[in-house]
Amino acid sequence: MKILNPDNLRVPTEPGKTPCLLGNRCRDCGIVVFPKMPVCPSCHTNGAMVEVEIGRTGKLYSHTISHFAPAGFTAPAFQIFVDLPEGPRIFSLVGAGLPVERGVLEDGMEMQLVVEPLADTPEHRDELTYKFVPANGART
Ligand SMILES: [Zn+2]
Repeated sequence: MKILNPDNLRVPTEPGKTPCLLGNRCRDCGIVVFPKMPVCPSCHTNGAMVEVEIGRTGKLYSHTISHFAPAGFTAPAFQIFVDLPEGPRIFSLVGAGLPVERGVLEDGMEMQLVVEPLADTPEHRDELTYKFVPANGART
């Protein structure tokens, strides 16, 4: 297993530490972005972006069920946008163990980050990435 994009995702090995996303915060204006950007998209300062740990939790902004999958993925699958408390609104997939049906997710619900294989397929099961699941632990 390898982390698909170690520049975006930190998976600590120390006990008690939890995985998080790696974004950038602008030293000048404070905006937080994910994924990282070399130039601040808000104040356009170059060289002011510093790495920050973000995204351990989030709030579900929007979700849909995709009934088509590109090669190496399976359908149906949830596709979601999550609002991170640090500011960014990011696209994500949803962790395994939830039935992919209407009514399972509710916009506004609290979510938490998990680290899982990108997809349960030969192409992607050894690639770890971030996903989100409901924070209430309602997975089967
Ligand atoms: Zn800025």
